[in-house]
Amino acid sequence: MRSEENRRMVERLEKQGIIKTEAVKKAMLSVPRELFVWEGYEKLAYEDQPLPLGDTGQTISAPHMVAIMLEELNVGEGQIVLEVGAGSGYNAACLAHLVGKSGRVISVEVNGELVQFARRNINKLLLNNVEIIHGDGSLGYPPRLEQEIYDRIVVTAAAQSIPRFLISQLKRKGVMLIPVGDMQMQVLMKVSKEADGSLKTRNICDVVFVPLVGA
Ligand code: SAH
Repeated sequence: MRSEENRRMVERLEKQGIIKTEAVKKAMLSVPRELFVWEGYEKLAYEDQPLPLGDTGQTISAPHMVAIMLEELNVGEGQIVLEVGAGSGYNAACLAHLVGKSGRVISVEVNGELVQFARRNINKLLLNNVEIIHGDGSLGYPPRLEQEIYDRIVVTAAAQSIPRFLISQLKRKGVMLIPVGDMQMQVLMKVSKEADGSLKTRNICDVVFVPLVGA
């Protein structure tokens, strides 16, 4: 029973204090994670752990990690969100619920096989405010454009430093989440662009993500 197990997972995350808002709770209730795991992993879909995406070497993030990022991003209806690293498309689908019909989610994925996988998964939920783009998201989207486009940016792969085009493409009063560090361990950084264009950063928690490749 897909919806029942999903509800239990969401309620566990709420009891643990990881899910804090109705908006994030509703979004995660609307996205059955088993539709986003690799074939053969359906039974583990509601365990709080990352799972491998075939033999791509990539993973779908653990539900608590997705919940932490969604809460910290504080996404509003109608916003335009950039995700770097679509992977399974699960986080993008949750973001799509948070921005609603008047918003838009652009998720860039560098691995061609995962682009197809994420698109297939997103289509199962008939979400038409999400676009999965094949490319190097470390350059932003459109690549290298120096224009403030996005209300929110979330990078779901570990960077050695914050890519400059992502900073350029973040709107004033916008928020970016990005894991920064080496291969073994990173800190999830929250970067806020102030009204005057200056940046404020805060460390949220230690995390482990697969590395961001590309420029
Ligand atoms: N958010 C995903 C999990 C992401 S795993 C989910 O909900 O399932 C990290 C993903 O980042 C991997 O799929 C990897 O291929 C991708 N990635 C790594 N470097 C990238 C880059 N420069 N541009 C776009 N995607 C990248």
